[in-house]
Amino acid sequence: MDSSPCFIKENATKEILLRVTNVCGECYGDLHIGDEIYYDIRHCRYLCQACQEALSKRMNDRCETKEEENKVLF
Ligand SMILES: [Zn+2]
Repeated sequence: MDSSPCFIKENATKEILLRVTNVCGECYGDLHIGDEIYYDIRHCRYLCQACQEALSKRMNDRCETKEEENKVLF
């Protein structure tokens, strides 16, 4: 079974909010500095926690959420 990570859990930093997005890619809710946000690797977007939970439920166990380890994406 391939269980590659789909989401990377990060804390929203000023840099992310300014350079990438300050809204959730799914519900367009505001993201705030210090929020837990999730980078959606497959869709190249950031999600709020509620949307990430909803999506990962839909994908069952095929998806892993990784804690942020090192900055590989930006
Ligand atoms: Zn959302």
